[in-house]
Amino acid sequence: CGIVGYIGQLDAKEILLKGLEKLEYRGYDSAGIAVENAAGVQVFKEKGRIADLRDVVDMTVDATTGIGHTRWATHGVPNYVNAHPHQSASKRFTLVHNGVIENYHLLQDEYLQGVTMTSDTDSEVIAQLIEHFSNEGMTTAEAFRKTLTLVEGSYALALLDAEEADVIYVAKKGSPLLVGVGEQFNVVASDAMAMLHVTDQFIELHDKEMVIVTADSIQIQKLDGTVVERAPYKAELDL
Ligand code: GLU
Repeated sequence: CGIVGYIGQLDAKEILLKGLEKLEYRGYDSAGIAVENAAGVQVFKEKGRIADLRDVVDMTVDATTGIGHTRWATHGVPNYVNAHPHQSASKRFTLVHNGVIENYHLLQDEYLQGVTMTSDTDSEVIAQLIEHFSNEGMTTAEAFRKTLTLVEGSYALALLDAEEADVIYVAKKGSPLLVGVGEQFNVVASDAMAMLHVTDQFIELHDKEMVIVTADSIQIQKLDGTVVERAPYKAELDL
């Protein structure tokens, strides 16, 4: 029921865990994070509290990019396997999703006949579709946008590509998601509250936009690839 993401110079796992703790009030049944460095992506997830997730995160992993998720199960029981992040078959793509994909069965039948699903979630289909289109020769941005034109329902998404350690892709439709702007880092969150400990400058996203976030750039695109310019605003802190 909440998403966070961080890309910058500092220890991603600590910032993600703290961000997820600030989203706990939204309610959840499981939680997870994925962190990425030049060696690849590592996923840690657990049913239960953020405190339980903390216990399974390898605190020695040195990574400055990552995404995190608290899950409120809609498709598939709350358990370890259905907890996010979810990965594509080759594990190249790692994804967190809030919302509901209504046509996931149809998309699975149409595009993913040969792909064995790991979880019972609607969300995994998004990761598998991105890999499917990537295998057809699309760039990650193209494969992500193509997938977003096919899915029906609601989503806030954050995506890691194991072949690009310095990028987080995000998108939203019908579920909240903001990008927070920092000095040599950027963040992503469902709620500004989750990232006020690192920045108070945010860029709002509109439905059916995809964003390519690096440590020092934020590029918003419409699903046809057109670039959108939008200035950040200062979040008012009410305590
Ligand atoms: N529909 C997804 C699931 O059941 C995401 C739920 C959520 O918004 O946390 O895993």
